[in-house]
Amino acid sequence: MNFEDIKNDEQQYMMHTYGRFQTAIVSGKGATAKDAEGKEYIDFTSGIGVNCLGYCDEGWVKAVSAQAAAVQHISNLYYSPLQTEVSKKLCELTGMDKVFLCNSGAEANECAIKIARKYSFDKYGKGRQKILTLVNSFHGRTVTTLAATGQDVFHNFFFPFTEGFEYVTANDIKDLEAKAGDDVCAVFIELVQGEGGVMPLSQEFVDAAARLCGEKDMLLMVDEVQTGISRTGTVYCYEQYGIKPDVITSAKGLGGGLPIGACICNEKLGNVMTPGTHGTTFGGNPVACAAAKEVLSRVTAPGFLAEVCKKGDYIRQKLSSMQNVKEVRGKGMMIGIVTEKDNAKEIAAKCVENGLLILTAKDLLRLLPPLNISYEEIDKGLEILSGLMAE
Ligand SMILES: *Cc1c(COP(=O)(O)O)cnc(C)c1O
Repeated sequence: MNFEDIKNDEQQYMMHTYGRFQTAIVSGKGATAKDAEGKEYIDFTSGIGVNCLGYCDEGWVKAVSAQAAAVQHISNLYYSPLQTEVSKKLCELTGMDKVFLCNSGAEANECAIKIARKYSFDKYGKGRQKILTLVNSFHGRTVTTLAATGQDVFHNFFFPFTEGFEYVTANDIKDLEAKAGDDVCAVFIELVQGEGGVMPLSQEFVDAAARLCGEKDMLLMVDEVQTGISRTGTVYCYEQYGIKPDVITSAKGLGGGLPIGACICNEKLGNVMTPGTHGTTFGGNPVACAAAKEVLSRVTAPGFLAEVCKKGDYIRQKLSSMQNVKEVRGKGMMIGIVTEKDNAKEIAAKCVENGLLILTAKDLLRLLPPLNISYEEIDKGLEILSGLMAE
């Protein structure tokens, strides 16, 4: 099928939920994607932070295909060695206590929200169900995670939304203190707001949140769906802030391209969820777990994080001398670029025409390249970007 046929069938048979770039990707290797017409693209998107080892990484393909050939699914009525291996590794990496495996970021966040409310209900009874999230946050597309998302544009059409969320202005400690009343059970934050425009939180604000949570027995919950899996230069971003969250949620890069999410909690919360209070059919699927096991061993191998930081710095440094660049922000290989001409969307569309896949977030350009991208691919991609930025 050529691109026009694919596009026509998409129009005819699929709900129009996505604004798509004008290409259909059919294969890839490393950080290079190929479209239906055989044209190649350097990929600075990783499928929105998912393909952390790039396309069709050898070790990843081997792990996934071997598992598909052994057993593709068992329900959660039975024990699964791969689930326990992935959960153990996540606990070892974070110093946390227990894991719930699911299929996506939104589901990991749903689990976190349920844990917060049940922990509080078990200990204090009714009336302490409120969760503070941040203005400009993004936590997912289910009705509850949309409610948790602190952006008015998402609070439309689907009424009634889940109650019990209030939005604090990011980096505004006074606002946080004012809203942390006796009815609050948790503070739920992204440390670098991804969809909100690659906005890192200040150390002071995160410290204040951690202090308040400690004082008032509110759970400190960190949405690491985009920032996790070595994306920002540490396995999870919270490490850089020197805090100890009660709950971490992880997804996107965790499976390196297969759907898996995790809600990870500390010892205080390890027994909050009991049989019958939560579950999933697909969550912790063996093939997805085999993928996650491979990803976790690779992104935590000696030297890997140093290489992510080095490549992130390299990209940042090259961007800083590019025309039309007003500001570069983010951490590690999660990079946002504010353009002088405020033309991120046009640049992103032109990049595709010129053989580069790139993301936007709000009115920024956003880069989430595969963590193991080669310098050659980085240079090739940045050269395309540089040319378009100079136009
Ligand atoms: C992408 C994202 C989500 C939603 O993840 P899905 O897998 O699309 O449900 C939640 N939180 C953050 C921070 C994200 O970046």
